[in-house]
Amino acid sequence: MPGAIDLHAHSSVSDGTESPTELIAAALAAGLGTVALTDHDSTSGWAEAFAAASGTGLTVIPGMELSTNYGPASVHMLAYLFNPMDGGVIAETARIRDGRLHRAERIVEKIGEDYDLSWDDVLAQSADGGTLGRPHIADALVVKGHVGSREEAFESILDWKGPYYEKYYAPSPLEGVSMIVAAGGVPVLAHPATRGRYRVIEEHAIAELVDAGLVGLEIFHRDNTEDGKVRLHELAEKFDLVVTGSSDYHGTGKPNRLAENTTSPESLQRIIAASSGTKPFRG
Ligand code: AMP
Ligand code: FE
Ligand code: FE
Ligand code: ZN
Repeated sequence: MPGAIDLHAHSSVSDGTESPTELIAAALAAGLGTVALTDHDSTSGWAEAFAAASGTGLTVIPGMELSTNYGPASVHMLAYLFNPMDGGVIAETARIRDGRLHRAERIVEKIGEDYDLSWDDVLAQSADGGTLGRPHIADALVVKGHVGSREEAFESILDWKGPYYEKYYAPSPLEGVSMIVAAGGVPVLAHPATRGRYRVIEEHAIAELVDAGLVGLEIFHRDNTEDGKVRLHELAEKFDLVVTGSSDYHGTGKPNRLAENTTSPESLQRIIAASSGTKPFRG
């Protein structure tokens, strides 16, 4: 599928297993024309991704997947084309990453009472200055032989309903949308209809986010349920939201493959038109 558009991919700046340079190579190998780099709560992979894409013809949409908390649920918010130097974004993402770091320490401390696992084991699985999360703890548990895969770790020791789980600070979805819009960016709700911890937000809450500047819904994503997709299409119609599709690629950290879901050129155009924080990088 030459020229396809995939608006959600992670690098080792967060919980992907490939560096931004490797991710760009993978995007080219997958035949993409456009890829968005959307690491969790960090923009620190942007420069490397641009450098790697330079001269290749690939377009890179700089982005981020912002963590937000909606009551007990974790709601992920994709943010595109915002100003990475915006003071609000810099302060808030630093606060989230710091919260994630201390939360990971608390989780590892609790796991360490029952399993052979140290903080150094986890640090060995993450890039310096990267956004820490349960995937890095999962990788350390694999290396230690306690589980066979990331997937298995999430279904057992790292389950959010299990005894080792800890929450971390994140803004509300409404605060997240407002922050992204204030930085000239374009907020799109990530995989809004998955099972489990990342449950569907109710219509009244979506309406509130739309009033604050929500632009789109990521409907074509392998984790959205089929019923959920139908419901999301109704909401997109009702609130005139942009519909996106993407892989949520994490390298070998997840089965998701680049270009398995894609976004239409029309949707991408609407996202670019709604942005004022920075421009796509045309490599
Ligand atoms: P955290 O934000 O630290 O609680 O970890 C959540 C992250 O773990 C999400 O960004 C997902 O990409 C990843 N994740 C969730 N479930 C799984 C799974 N079953 N296998 C691999 N990665 C997962
Ligand atoms: Fe992730
Ligand atoms: Fe996500
Ligand atoms: Zn993601």
